[in-house]
Amino acid sequence: MKCSAMFLCAVIFCGCIAAQPATSSSPDPRRIVIAAGTLFDGKGGVLHNTRIVIKGTKIVAIDPHAAPVDYNLRGLTVLPGWIDAHVHITWSFDKDGKNAGPAAATPEAVYRAAGNAWATLLGGFTTVQSVGSAQDFPLRDAISRGGLPGSRILTSGEPLSGRGEQTGTPEEIRAFVRKQKQAGSDLIKIYASGGMRQGPMTMSQDQLSAACDEARKQGLRTLVHAYRDAVRAAAIAGCTQIEHGLGASDDDLKLLAEKGIYFDPQAGLLLETYLRYRQNYAGTPFFPKTEAEFTSMESILPMNHELMQRAAKVPGLKIVFGTDAVAGAHGHNAEEFVDRVRDGGVQPMAALVSANSLAAEALGKSSQIGSIAPGLEADIIALDGDPLQDITAVRRVVFVMKGGVVYKNEPRKGITSPPPGLR
Ligand SMILES: [Zn+2]
Repeated sequence: MKCSAMFLCAVIFCGCIAAQPATSSSPDPRRIVIAAGTLFDGKGGVLHNTRIVIKGTKIVAIDPHAAPVDYNLRGLTVLPGWIDAHVHITWSFDKDGKNAGPAAATPEAVYRAAGNAWATLLGGFTTVQSVGSAQDFPLRDAISRGGLPGSRILTSGEPLSGRGEQTGTPEEIRAFVRKQKQAGSDLIKIYASGGMRQGPMTMSQDQLSAACDEARKQGLRTLVHAYRDAVRAAAIAGCTQIEHGLGASDDDLKLLAEKGIYFDPQAGLLLETYLRYRQNYAGTPFFPKTEAEFTSMESILPMNHELMQRAAKVPGLKIVFGTDAVAGAHGHNAEEFVDRVRDGGVQPMAALVSANSLAAEALGKSSQIGSIAPGLEADIIALDGDPLQDITAVRRVVFVMKGGVVYKNEPRKGITSPPPGLR
C-alpha cells in the first residue's frame, strides 16, 4: 500500500527543551513582551500599536501598555505563525540530488527530513499537516518533545490508497482506519483518484463513504486527494477536506460550500517545484524519464489558476492553505501565497487567513493555534513589508516564535528575492 500511495502522490504532476534559545536577553524568561506597530490577528482583523504578552508557551494578554518590551517589531507586519495543511515533510532528494520520495528511511533521509522541518519553521510555518508517510511519526514526536527545532507536525501516517476492489471491502477499510488511529495518526489521508489529468475514481462511493464515516466515528478528520468525479463523491461521503480538485464543476464547489467541507486547490508552488527541479525528478519512479517531458506540466499551471479563481468566487467556500510541499519546496511554502494572490484571484487578507484561523479550524485546533489572542500558543511571525500592498512580503519572514521560543529574529534583513526558478 505504501508503494501505490507514493505512486498516486507522485502522479499529481501529470495529473521545552531549547531552554531559552534566543530569548536570554529577557529579564524574565517566562514572560516576554512583543511590541507591534501592525498586528494581524489571524481572523482578518488588524490592530495598531499594541503589545503581545507571552508567558511560557502561551499568549496571555494583548496590552498596549505592557512593559518592558523584549522584542520591538514595530515597522514590521506581525501575524500568527502560518499553518500549511498539506505537506510531505519527509520528502527529499538523495545524496546524488535525485528524488528519494517521502518514504525513504536511511539515516541520511531522516536527517534531511529534520532539515525540512527546520527550513519550514524558519519560513514562518509553525504548524504543518504532513500526509502520506509513516516516516512522519518519529519526526513529529521528536519535535513535539522538544528534541529538534521544527514546525509542529500533524500526520496521517500511512494513507489509504484507492486501488479499485483491491482497496478492500467497506469493513476492511474501516479496520484500516482504526489501525491508523492505533498507530497514532492525527487524521486519515485518502487517495480517491489518479492524477491531475486523467483517470476515474480509484475507489467506489461505498468504499470512500466507509472510510470517512469510520474516521468520523473514531474522532479523526479525513483529507482526500480528489480530481473530477472524486470531488463530489468525497463531498457526498462527508469527508473533512478535499485536495487538488481539478475538474470540479461549479456545482461541485457549491456543494462543498453547503456542506462546510474545506477545499485546498494548489495555485502553483507544486508545479513550479517539479519544473525547477526537473533534473532531480526525471527518471525517478512515477515521473517522466526525461527532463523534456516535464514541459507538459507548464500547461497545467493555467488550469490550476482557473480553478482557484473560480473557487475564490464561490460564496462560503472554505479555501484552506495547503501547498503539497515535496522535495525542493520545503521552506518555500509561502510562495503559494504569491501564486494564489497573483494568479488565483484570492485577496491577500483571505489568503493569509486561510493559513491562520481557517487552517486551524480545518485542523480542529482553533482553540490552540491560528490566531493571536490570550490562551493560544505563542506562535508569532513578522514580515518585513505589508503583504496587503505587496504579497511578496511573505518571502521576508524576519521573526519566528513557536510556543514562546524565538527561532529567528532578523529584523529587516530578510531575503528579498524569490529562490531561483520561482517567479
Ligand atoms: Zn500531497
